[in-house]
Amino acid sequence: MKKITPRFEFLFNNLKKIAYTFIDPTHFGDVNQKMADFCSCKRSELKGQSISYILDKKEVEDVRKFNEKIFEDGIRTTANMQIEINNAFRVIEVDTIPHHNQQGKVDYLLCLAEDITDELEKEKRFYRAKKRYRSIFKKAPLAFVVSDRDTNIIDWNDKAAEIFGWQKEEVINENFNLIVANDSYSEITEVIENVFEGKESYNINRNIAKDGSELYCEWNTALIKDRDDKILEIISIAQDISDKIKIQKRIENQQEELRYSELRTQFFANISHELKTPLNLIFSSLQLLDYKLQNTLADDKVHFDKYLSSIKNNGFRLLRLVNNLIDITKIDVNTFQLHRGNFDIIELVKSVVDSTSDYLEAKNRNFRFESELDSKIIACDPFNIERVILNLISNAVKFTAQGDEILLRIQKVDEQIKISVRDTGIGIKKENQDIIFEQFRQVDQSFNKKREGSGIGLSLVKSIVEMHGGKISLDSIYGMYSKFSVCLPAGTIDQKTVEAESYSADSLINKVELEFSDINNI
Ligand code: ADP
Repeated sequence: MKKITPRFEFLFNNLKKIAYTFIDPTHFGDVNQKMADFCSCKRSELKGQSISYILDKKEVEDVRKFNEKIFEDGIRTTANMQIEINNAFRVIEVDTIPHHNQQGKVDYLLCLAEDITDELEKEKRFYRAKKRYRSIFKKAPLAFVVSDRDTNIIDWNDKAAEIFGWQKEEVINENFNLIVANDSYSEITEVIENVFEGKESYNINRNIAKDGSELYCEWNTALIKDRDDKILEIISIAQDISDKIKIQKRIENQQEELRYSELRTQFFANISHELKTPLNLIFSSLQLLDYKLQNTLADDKVHFDKYLSSIKNNGFRLLRLVNNLIDITKIDVNTFQLHRGNFDIIELVKSVVDSTSDYLEAKNRNFRFESELDSKIIACDPFNIERVILNLISNAVKFTAQGDEILLRIQKVDEQIKISVRDTGIGIKKENQDIIFEQFRQVDQSFNKKREGSGIGLSLVKSIVEMHGGKISLDSIYGMYSKFSVCLPAGTIDQKTVEAESYSADSLINKVELEFSDINNI
């Protein structure tokens, strides 16, 4: 039995590793305390002992073969071995170092071994956990997007592919902005900056799927750091909340609808006052007329004319109001119908202008009419187009002062006829320029009380113009001017459509007096 030289004895016994020697393929030489502990034996028990003392038959065979080879070729070899010690399977990593004698022959083997069973178990557990997280990542009901510090995508799970329509291979190395709506880029930059600063990472974003469709997602973003706090990746987790947002929008619409219906109710409450005022004036005028007729001479005609004109005016005012009310109600329930034919629009507008000239003169407004065209036949409902023009002129009179200018122009712009009414009156503030076309809207309630009106004129005008396939627009600077432009398509319609839409207008009504009835009461 070869003995380890005393020089190495100390080293051998104090090694952290299990150490032992083989004097031939199946017999131990010396063993250190670590080895004795590992085998739950005494060192003396194992010294010179056959390996069958601690190993079973199969293990003995394996070790014998392994050692024989090293005795033979003299090459240092590291291998893992599984052995059963004290009824437990252990895995040891054995580094077998052959010792060569002076003749160059291997005379014994030094084995340095390490029990790696626990380490292997840890690795296995880590691997299992990794697998588990990987499958959670892959199959999670939330979209996971992993990106680098520059927000370039490096990983993407199945749900992300489902929500955004891009397969993982298509998005790797693409920037996160690929799935963000153009106008939300800055929001994303802000979120990322916040996350880097350790702030709140929650946000709702408008995203874009591969097919261009829009969706709303709720995002939570976090940084993945290494042990030294170095940022490795950004992980963003998203939930598609488009349906939730849709429901929210529906609720908002319902609330808007409710608000609108409240406005409508309020309007009808107010309108009763509007309806009563002219009626009261009509009746008081009638009473006075009655009184005068009884008590004065028939040649006191001046008085009668005054009262009669008041009755007429207020009657028209009331009628206009009622007509407009009926029409907007019809428009609301889609029963308002145009009666179009092919008419000369220039002639039509001119005749409206002519019929208003006396009023405009009496009101001292500086009125001008200009037309680029002498005549142009287009498809229109003359009765309603007259109403539109009269309404715009009467508004122009209503919101100007004596000496102000009103210019009515007709131009041909592309395939459209543009009729504009521009006045140098009070103008309309920018914030009110859209709402004046809404039903029941008057801009400045207190101011408008000086001027008669119900706030339905322009909404009706807009509906009539749009039913003609046209558009109305407003250009105004508050305190300087207002310009309403109506653009109508310049085409005509066939005879069949004309017949289907035709009707006979009520010619007994004086439309100018009707549309100007508010102004006459100022
Ligand atoms: P109303 O019957 O009360 O006149 P409209 O729908 O015709 O209602 O007009 C709505 C509001 O638009 C008016 O109350 C007024 O404030 C504003 N408006 C309309 N035309 C003009 C104009 N030419 N100049 C200034 N304001 C105008």
